[in-house]
Amino acid sequence: ILEEDEIINFVSSAEQEQAALSQAEVQKQSIQEVRRSLPVFPYREDLLLAIQQHQILVIEGETGSGKTTQIPQFLMESGYNDGGMKIGCTQPRRVAAMSVAARVAQEVGVKLGNEVGYSIRFEDCTSERTVLKYMTDGIGLCLKVVVVIIDEAHERTLHTDILFGLIKDIARFRPDLKVLVASATLDTERFSCFFDDAPVFRIPGRRFPVDIFYTKAPEADYLEACVVSVLQIHVTQPPGDCLVFLTGQEEIETCCELLQERCRRLGSKISELLVLPIYANLPSDMQAKIFSPTPPGSRKVVVATNIAETSLTIDGIIYVIDPGFCKQKSYNARTGMESLIVTPCSRASANQRAGRAGRVAAGKCFRLYTAWAFKHEMEESTVPEIQRTNLGNVVLLLKSLGINDLIHFDFMDPPPHETLVLDIKYLLCFSLNISIFLYLSRYKCSEEVLTIAAMLSVNNSIFYRPKDKVVHADNARQNFVVPGGDHMVLLNVYTQWLESGYSTQWCYENFIQFRSMKRARDVREQLEGLMDRIEVEVCSSGGDIVPIRKAVTAGYFYHTARLSKGGYKTVKHQQTVYVHPNSSLFEEQPRWLIYHELVFTTKEFMRQVIEIDSSWLLEVAPHYYKNKELEDSSSKKMPRKQGKAKEELG
Ligand code: ADP
Ligand code: MG
Repeated sequence: ILEEDEIINFVSSAEQEQAALSQAEVQKQSIQEVRRSLPVFPYREDLLLAIQQHQILVIEGETGSGKTTQIPQFLMESGYNDGGMKIGCTQPRRVAAMSVAARVAQEVGVKLGNEVGYSIRFEDCTSERTVLKYMTDGIGLCLKVVVVIIDEAHERTLHTDILFGLIKDIARFRPDLKVLVASATLDTERFSCFFDDAPVFRIPGRRFPVDIFYTKAPEADYLEACVVSVLQIHVTQPPGDCLVFLTGQEEIETCCELLQERCRRLGSKISELLVLPIYANLPSDMQAKIFSPTPPGSRKVVVATNIAETSLTIDGIIYVIDPGFCKQKSYNARTGMESLIVTPCSRASANQRAGRAGRVAAGKCFRLYTAWAFKHEMEESTVPEIQRTNLGNVVLLLKSLGINDLIHFDFMDPPPHETLVLDIKYLLCFSLNISIFLYLSRYKCSEEVLTIAAMLSVNNSIFYRPKDKVVHADNARQNFVVPGGDHMVLLNVYTQWLESGYSTQWCYENFIQFRSMKRARDVREQLEGLMDRIEVEVCSSGGDIVPIRKAVTAGYFYHTARLSKGGYKTVKHQQTVYVHPNSSLFEEQPRWLIYHELVFTTKEFMRQVIEIDSSWLLEVAPHYYKNKELEDSSSKKMPRKQGKAKEELG
């Protein structure tokens, strides 16, 4: 009676279980095959022997050779974790820690968070049973750890560099601890040298040749050039996936959107092109997508930040498009200014990127810059983060570990002396965590300030602004605006979320990122615990916003800017800065502002600003400001708008 497509095919549950079982069996088999095919596999025994013979071993191998996923499994298989011992593997990037842990749990055949887990800041996916833990914060290593792997050592992130110093020290009085320093094929001699000439174990890579192409002339718009190159490859080149390196979320989203639009226009004239983004704030289910195999007849394009340079390996990449840029933090100790700047990447980076094309077969790398620029304009290698950062957090971190002699800490590449000394000085007098706490008791608004501090700690990922719903998202954001400035807006968002019962649905409806809110809530709890320890009473200002703004002023008085022609000037350094167009005070342009941070994109922008009264500065920081500095130089009315800033943001 029924049409054929209406018929439901029933399957007995026994049959279904049987099918699921054999499927798992097949999957397991193929996983074992993949494991055996990795370059590290033939060296399993030699490697284990070397680990047994040396306390500290540097391991060098091409990206994708199996260092991160396989070596910890070798250790588990040979019983290093017997007697309840644990293996820790540190990762510089959160996305990598999560994704790699998920992969290894699958390979081992356990549920993520049981025997294999990860722990990143404010998100712990481990249990008592966890034997192997991937973590971004290696500082939390415990006594039960028998092997620590400092992975991606070549990235030379701040945490890694600090960890080097700490571990070197710890290893001296814990002879049973094994230390493995894993790195891509970069700089390994330096690691060996730092760890008192530890031996280097080299995993010979399997690399197919990669043809490198340069542009004849510099490209004016590298984003557009990327889009064109991808389509060109798609239309003219044989099958194989494509990897594009861009610098951040916005660029990546724009690029993906442009690609999708052009493909739509070309319609059936071209075969299917799967466009997938990957960057740190991408929700994890979306992250997983980049690893699924490409269906036959189509081509995958992964548009990534430099996370895909060495931290993540995507199989099947044959073509790489490299515009030659990356986003880098840079710091000026004198002005206290930290900026994220899009800069040319280093030659070492460019070569790593090109290498991604030659993992499974001979590949091609299209560099969107000239051969001349590669030779003459790019730095040899990337400067370690420790030499270009605000060290405030490092200093706090080390101090919390009881390390007070920072000047003589065993850094692999010591930060510039001047930065360190200045930072310690700043930090001791002016840190948010110290001075705000002191002032909280005076201004009686700790409830609100705790929330603000917590929200600021995740501040750039609270508002969700998907490209296809920009208008809705901006309207939703506008609805949160309250007088006072961005700090008050953040407080408002949190308060409403709390009133919704910390609801996920509420976040969804208001274009708020649930994950960030959850993190803010965790941070808030930690801060509250800290308050408790230093015995500051938690109380609310009861709706009065002046004490709240005064407390923020107390914590950040050295981040003051005053309205001046066309923009703002920082009070101490007379630097020209602008209110970020995303700010709730962008139109209003109050006379005095405190900013949370300065970022440099197209201009020097202040992000997260709050309106203050200049007289408060004398109240909270009489040692720092003189009356004269705070006088308004002119009584003329200032222009209300910032002119073209919004357009120039690009
Ligand atoms: P290395 O650390 O030496 O760069 P990895 O251990 O990360 O190498 O990678 C080994 C293999 O595991 C690669 O072929 C990679 O594609 C695969 N792999 C790693 N992470 C994942 C993942 N999340 N999903 C699927 N495959 C993965
Ligand atoms: Mg790795």
